[in-house]
Amino acid sequence: MRYICPKCFKVADVGEKFCSNCGYDFEHISNEKYTEKLIKALRHPDYNVAYMAAKIIGELKIKRAEKSLIEQLCKNLLNKKDPYLEQVMVFALGEIGGKEAYKFLLENKDKFSVITKTTAEISLEKIKGRIYIS
Ligand SMILES: [Zn+2]
Repeated sequence: MRYICPKCFKVADVGEKFCSNCGYDFEHISNEKYTEKLIKALRHPDYNVAYMAAKIIGELKIKRAEKSLIEQLCKNLLNKKDPYLEQVMVFALGEIGGKEAYKFLLENKDKFSVITKTTAEISLEKIKGRIYIS
């Protein structure tokens, strides 16, 4: 699993104690702060940072990111910005989303790009499984 440096947003590997770009000491950051940084990074102007943030949010299952992911996906839909970013954010919603994410994906699944459509179906199934369990 990879991480993002909270200071310069360079992608780092777990096990690295310092950022190879800016020298930031990763021990200094708490999980709480890191989570906040990741959620903020979804809005980062650098496509690679936003992409990696969404991917890590999905992998680490950071539930608090649900609203921000939906927000960014709405913007992406309006601007027709990027199909890959859209796809990874829909993947992340599938990993963490609840009722709100389910409703959003269901309402918008026909508006997504071709590459996102299958991911949206999978994410809807995943969320559905969780909603009915709880
Ligand atoms: Zn750094």
